[in-house]
Amino acid sequence: MFNLILFGPPGAGKGTQAVKIAEKFGWKHVSTGDILRAEVSQGTPLGLKVKAVMEAGHLVSDALLIEIMESVFVNNSDVKGFVLDGFPRTLKQAQELDQMLLTHGRNVSLVLALEVNEEELVKRLLKRAQDQGRKDDTEEVVKNRLVQYHHHTKPLIDYYKTKNLYKEVFGEGSIEQIFDQLCTVIKP
Ligand code: AMP
Repeated sequence: MFNLILFGPPGAGKGTQAVKIAEKFGWKHVSTGDILRAEVSQGTPLGLKVKAVMEAGHLVSDALLIEIMESVFVNNSDVKGFVLDGFPRTLKQAQELDQMLLTHGRNVSLVLALEVNEEELVKRLLKRAQDQGRKDDTEEVVKNRLVQYHHHTKPLIDYYKTKNLYKEVFGEGSIEQIFDQLCTVIKP
């Protein structure tokens, strides 16, 4: 069982690479952003609750995310591995993830970060706003999302470094180049 956290700021390319990694190794890709966007577009009670928060570029509450992840683990007990994309994003989420995995006889195998400079991130996020019409990638919100990352998510780097689980790959270049580099670090 391999449980990979694909880490990095918004716009680093986690989603693109997570899909490729999941396909190559036969693991389940879990994007909490995709899960939440699906709830919003289906207009579920959860979706209605989180819509405004997401559109402002803020983080959804830890309690909701932990509930979502708990059901992901319960409903996928037979998978060989997970590629987590967009979770954990706070220290509380990281601690709860450790607990949840323990309950399911698993642990975090590797935290692999995509390193991209800030200017490039903003450029990518704004381009994605145009291409995909994502409401949370408009100019003001992009800034917010990066602030959230620096404030809440970046501290996780030390959390995982202390556990000797943290590795970094340069996230600029072609999708295939970056994918090859990621694959050389992942040793299931
Ligand atoms: P993403 O597609 O991963 O960039 O996520 C889009 C948005 O969903 C984020 O800006 C947050 O509002 C929300 N979200 C996704 N994952 C999390 C998480 N782990 N914790 C809190 N909010 C999240």
